[in-house]
Amino acid sequence: MLLDGKKVSKIILEEVKEKVSKMDKKPHLAVIIVGDDPASKIYVRNKKRTAESVGIKSTVVELPEDTTEETLLNELNKLNNDDDVTAILVQMPLPKQINQEHIICAINPKKDVDCFTPENVGRLAIGLKPYFNPVTPQGILLLLDHYDVPIEGKHAVIIGRSNIVGKPMARMLLKRNATVTVCHSKTKNLAEIIKTADIIISAVGKKVVRCKMVKYKSVFVDVGISRDTNGKLTGDLNWEVDFDNFDDVTEYFERVSPVPGGVGPMTIASLMLNSLNIN
Ligand code: NAP
Repeated sequence: MLLDGKKVSKIILEEVKEKVSKMDKKPHLAVIIVGDDPASKIYVRNKKRTAESVGIKSTVVELPEDTTEETLLNELNKLNNDDDVTAILVQMPLPKQINQEHIICAINPKKDVDCFTPENVGRLAIGLKPYFNPVTPQGILLLLDHYDVPIEGKHAVIIGRSNIVGKPMARMLLKRNATVTVCHSKTKNLAEIIKTADIIISAVGKKVVRCKMVKYKSVFVDVGISRDTNGKLTGDLNWEVDFDNFDDVTEYFERVSPVPGGVGPMTIASLMLNSLNIN
């Protein structure tokens, strides 16, 4: 009953490795990281390690916390103009002296592996193919498709409306003919809405959902990442209120993604899949 991201991501990475081995020009993923945020450093290290494990070239540009916007734009332009670099990712969040929007707008859309630039987001919004699909939403769809979860005609409720997860997820699900509702912190009747969902995708970072709030045998995709009081990684589903162990949770849902081991590994696999696109 699990949506096992660990297992599915391994299959995808094997496929990516196979494809890269047959490519004359190898993909080259460049990641820029500014500052010392420990979580960001771990994410970047994982991306580099995974890229190398599938034969994708990877470069990490590390800049200090006090980097100016101008310096970052210069570094970004070097990568934009480097013909060997095929994919660029700027690790968020950026330090406060840097305007995130200026940086996103400066990424070459043909190398925008995260689908952040206005051109790629606009393409997605009007139903044109972006140069790259949004990474986490694409990973979620790959996970649902692997387990043959039906999407067309289903009511999908997304909790969270970020530019990284919620909004692009809504656009991709609409394209797959789901009926989509997007909820956020100002949504008045969250419990009522999620009770009507066939598929719930929760991307909040707080334990906003309890098992018994949702329809029995619905599909729950847990994107959220936070730490519980013991420092353990956990998702948005507060399952401990209703059940003693996770086996009962997997019985309750048609499918449920665990944290860790669900959306996280799928996001990395999806990034590697995107890196195969050389535009
Ligand atoms: P975000 O920018 O952190 O925003 C959170 C969203 O949740 C906002 O839209 C916010 O509403 C909404 N929200 C907050 N409290 C709420 C509540 N009580 N009820 C309903 N909605 C509420 O979003 P994000 O960047 O998408 O990240 C969300 C979570 O997913 C984080 O834990 C992040 O670490 C995780 N994440 C995981 C992956 C992965 O690969 N596993 C990838 C990306 C993100 P407002 O808009 O009204 O403020």
